[in-house]
Order: sequence, then C-alpha cells, then structure tokens
Amino acid sequence: MSASAPRGDSTRAAAPREAIPLAQPELGAHEEAAVVEVLRSGQLSLGPRVPAFEQAFAARLGVAHASAVSSGTAGLHLALRAVGVHDGDEVVTSPFSFVASANACLFERARPVFADIDPVTLNLDLAAAAAAVTQRTAAVLPVHVFGYPADTQAFERLGLPIVEDACEALGAVHGDGHPVGGRGHPAAFGFYANKQLTTGEGGMVTTGDGSVKARLDSERNQGRAPDMGWLDHDRLGFNYRLSDLACALGLAQLDHLDDMLAARARVAAAYRAALAGIEGLDLPCEDAGGDMRGWFVFVVQLPRDHARDDVIRALRERGVASKPYLPAIHLMSYYREAFGHREGEFPVCEDVAARSVALPFFPAMSEGQVAQVAETVREVLGR
Ligand SMILES: *Cc1c(COP(=O)(O)O)cnc(C)c1O
Repeated sequence: MSASAPRGDSTRAAAPREAIPLAQPELGAHEEAAVVEVLRSGQLSLGPRVPAFEQAFAARLGVAHASAVSSGTAGLHLALRAVGVHDGDEVVTSPFSFVASANACLFERARPVFADIDPVTLNLDLAAAAAAVTQRTAAVLPVHVFGYPADTQAFERLGLPIVEDACEALGAVHGDGHPVGGRGHPAAFGFYANKQLTTGEGGMVTTGDGSVKARLDSERNQGRAPDMGWLDHDRLGFNYRLSDLACALGLAQLDHLDDMLAARARVAAAYRAALAGIEGLDLPCEDAGGDMRGWFVFVVQLPRDHARDDVIRALRERGVASKPYLPAIHLMSYYREAFGHREGEFPVCEDVAARSVALPFFPAMSEGQVAQVAETVREVLGR
C-alpha cells in the first residue's frame, strides 16, 4: 500500500476482500521431497515409482490391478478398448459429465448414446440407460459425477461390459462397501490439479483382470509387450505413460489422501449448514443407502428465477470465484453439429446443467471462507 493511500476511509469496508479461488491443491514439503528425489535419481520415466504408485493405489481400493496413465481421458480411452469397444459400436453414457467421457468413445469411432440422469444423484438413470441399449451397444459407461457413486451393481444387471468414469470419485464408497473403482470393471481416475489427488496431469485405471492390466500397460506404451525387446511392438498403442516424477507426486499425495478427503468432507458439511434454507437453491444430495460421496466439488443448483451468468458475475465482483458446472455434453457445439443433438432430448440433464454452479471448494478452505461464500450467495440471491 502506498503512503498516500487513504487510511480509515469508510469506503474501505466496501472494497472486495481477498478473492476465494475455485480450487487449490494440497502440496507441501512431502511432495517436494518426493519429486526432488526422482529428479536427483536421473530416472524420470519408466522407473520404479510407476509400479509403486500403481500398487499403492490398487491396495487402497482393494482391487487387484492398477495402471498409471497420462490422464483420466487416456485411461477412459484404454479402458474402452480393453472391453472391446470399436468402430460402429454404441456406448450408453451420461450427458451430464465432463466431455472426456463421451470423447473417449469417439476416439474409437464408437457412438456415445446418451441417456438422461437421475434428478437426485445426477448420475446416469438406470431405466433410461436400459431403454437406450440396442443390438449395437458394446458397453455402458456410468460416470460417478461429483464423486457420488453411480449404481454400478444395477448397471451390471444389464449384462454388458462396464467402463466406469471414476475421475471425480476417488474416496467414494458403494453401499455394499466396495470403494468406487473397486468392483473389478475397468475404472478410470483422473489426477488433474483440482481432483482429490493430483499429479499435475495424470490418471489411473483400476481393474480386477490381469489380462486387462497387461493390455493397458502395453497400449499406454506404444503397444509394446513386456517381454519384447527394445522398439518391438505387437499391437497398436499410444504414448499414455505417466512419468516417475508424476508417480512420486501421486505416492506422496496418497500418504495424506485420508486427511485431504476428510478436510473436503468437513468443508462440504460447513457449506451445507451455511447454505441451508435458501429458497429454491438445491444442494448436493446427501449420502443414502450406504453410498458415500468422495467429495470433489461443491455444486449448487440456482433457483429457477435467477439468471446464472448474472449470479456468477455478481459473485466474482464480490471476490468469490464460481463456474457453470457441468454443461450438457449433447448441447456442446461439436456434439450438436456432429450428431444433430438439440434441446429437449434429456430434460433432467438440461435443467440441472442450466442451473449448476460450482462454488470454491478445496481441503484448506477455512470456516470463515465458507461463511463468506455463503453470505455472498445469500446477498446475491437476495435471500
Ligand atoms: C477430470 C475428469 C476426466 C478426466 O480428465 P483429464 O483431464 O483427462 O484427467 C474425465 N471425466 C470426468 C467426469 C472428469 O471430471
């Protein structure tokens, strides 16, 4: 502050407080040391941290295998290939997701066939999914959106291969006690910087099947079989590897994942209390039937009488970051143009997508910050 700045001026009270970001990773000395150790080792890729991270991750989820990959999207792509999805197939999935879950089908020239979502959990609706199945359906791709477990057991009864998009659901647990991603179907996790665990960019595919693990490991590494010599390849593959630097970071994050998840759950509980009773404002659904959310984002649905863009602008002017989250995939320009999608196809998804706003949410958020966001939301909504 310059020496001439007004002091004790009453206008100071109206100045914006320090802005609260949407997300913020938890990175400390432990992460720094782990990454520096890899730097000093000189082996930055294809080294020992990759299997170490995979084994620790698989053990945490109680699943037999895990393969580290360069992103959640790469994981979804390889998982779809692993269950045999190819050219001309259909994959039944949710339109209320990050675009990657539908894009991954297109990578294999398969068609994502959307079905509407459940208005409470916001996950793919079972009856709608069942109605979307045809002769060409090669897989079902449920998304555990915002970390709330999709009913994987019910989808299993459709009798089709399942690929789970668990990119938002680390730490979530199904009502039957299985961690999400631990039921044995290929399940993709993502480690972008706003996720429950981050490696900067990165991902992991869990599976109960050793032959799937072998295929994932080969296809992430240009189609090289483990017993093959240098630069010999027996199938088509990609470079979807995760570096040792990233895996070291992931291992360090795993060491305090429980604390980070508990902190997210505390912030969510504080939000729920602070935002209670605002007319027309819908909060994330509560855990039910033994299902436990792995908290990823705190997304509210605005009252129908408010224009979302105006609310987001007003929040920003008052130092609170927020964002529409998530837009409906079928209404994105590319999907409209490529597949002729239009408004009205999936009314529940469209209503939710039009009203959803992500509020600042990260483990280190203080009660004071939660209270500040909640007060600002009340003020902006005039409630
Ligand atoms: C984060 C995310 C992904 C994967 O994202 P990457 O950036 O590729 O790691 C996929 N699906 C959903 C629903 C996600 O939230």
